[in-house]
Amino acid sequence: MPDVLIKNIRLLADGALAPAEILIENGKVIGISKEFRISEYDEVIDGKNAVAIPAGIDAHVHFRDPGMTYKENWYTGSCSAAAGGITTVLEHPNTLPPVVDKSGFYLKLKQAKKRSVIDFGINGGVTNNLEKLSELWALGVNCFGEIFMAESTGGLNINNQTLGSALSKIGQMEAVAAIHAEDDALRLQNEALLLHDNSDDVHSRIRPNECEEIAVRNCLRINESEKAPANIHFCHTSTPEAVALIETARKNLQEKQNQMAEKNKNKDQKEKSSDYQISRRITCEVTPHHLFLSTKDCGRLKTFGKMNPPLRDPKSAEYMMTALRTGLVNAVASDHAPHRVYEKETTIKAAPSGVPGVETLMPLMLAAVRKNMLTLERMVEVTSRNPARIFDLERLGKGFLKQGFDADIVLFDPKDVRIIKAKNLHSRCEWTPYEGMEGIFPTMTLSRGDVVWDGSQIIAKKGCGRFLPGKGLKPGADDFDGVDDRELVDENDIENEEEE
Ligand SMILES: [Zn+2]
Repeated sequence: MPDVLIKNIRLLADGALAPAEILIENGKVIGISKEFRISEYDEVIDGKNAVAIPAGIDAHVHFRDPGMTYKENWYTGSCSAAAGGITTVLEHPNTLPPVVDKSGFYLKLKQAKKRSVIDFGINGGVTNNLEKLSELWALGVNCFGEIFMAESTGGLNINNQTLGSALSKIGQMEAVAAIHAEDDALRLQNEALLLHDNSDDVHSRIRPNECEEIAVRNCLRINESEKAPANIHFCHTSTPEAVALIETARKNLQEKQNQMAEKNKNKDQKEKSSDYQISRRITCEVTPHHLFLSTKDCGRLKTFGKMNPPLRDPKSAEYMMTALRTGLVNAVASDHAPHRVYEKETTIKAAPSGVPGVETLMPLMLAAVRKNMLTLERMVEVTSRNPARIFDLERLGKGFLKQGFDADIVLFDPKDVRIIKAKNLHSRCEWTPYEGMEGIFPTMTLSRGDVVWDGSQIIAKKGCGRFLPGKGLKPGADDFDGVDDRELVDENDIENEEEE
């Protein structure tokens, strides 16, 4: 007997919305039809004519847990995600301790399993821990990174030589390297030049478009010169210059791969190029703040608009939407990086970089669809299907609203445009750079068939989120005997437990 029947909804089919019903059993979609003529099921959900799309996959969040739980933790972060229509996140390694070895991985896994209300992958950090990368891969990290090419929150940046060695190792494992591309030399030079400049947009001038351009070029060059280049995914690309370099590199790679495939036809087994090298990818994402905000907002946002890479000029922001629409940029990810208000209330130079965004990603994108900035089809592609493909989550049932996949579903009313207000959001940081802007919020979010957000409150139980292991997971590698097993409880954790 099916567990859930969702009726009275509309689904995308051939570019148009059509009435439909969804049947769910054991957390999976078992059927989609215009109308099911069945009378036996455990639960029926009346969608009230809402549109249903796959729930979002946010491949770039910083939930600050362990170590900085006064900013966010796995419970507040995942509730914020669920209320915004995201049911899968990939969490990045710059926590305290960072995920750079087995014990760092274990501490994060433990915190997330205890607290997350949505499914999650954990990324492995790359610093000077090259000898630990294969261990992390065997433990089930989703991918490696973000790999910082310049200083940012957590100070995990590495130089180009270490980057090359890391990419080679990651390539040998056939994994994905997620890159934070900013050139540190240019940043340092500009920082010195603009030492006494405290204008609202100075951060954007310290890390100009060129900063991203240089780093993307270096990263691509270094990777291609390795014997076993890695899959490269550029995080938060924000400039036309970077997108152009990535597109050229993709074309060159495609040509090279066509030649390899052609040669393979005539070669014996041992001389053949590997299947991995023939299917290797170069991909990139953009954040909502680089689509919907620009240096025009620096005066209004001040330190609350400071992040890395920084806000760009309006032309760059406009271009990024075009690049997303036309397929040059593959995915949207929030780079949710919360800091508390009191931390941001300081000078532009002293303020930490980073803005929250996991809860507003889908609402902003749905509002953009309503304004005809992109189609709903493309929005679904860049918020669920593509992130699932890039990070190998399809094999775990993620990213598609179709038979056999996890019933991770968002229902929304396309006419219900609301004003974004921090007081309605769930992040522990209690502010948003999108205050006063328009968003279309989910009327319901389901994760594996269970309602996690009902449009007004979180229904999910703490800890119901599942770990999504990367494809390198080796049975037995997750033997944590003897690993640092301290209980991570601090004042903020206790305060949060009481809140619920
Ligand atoms: Zn980053």
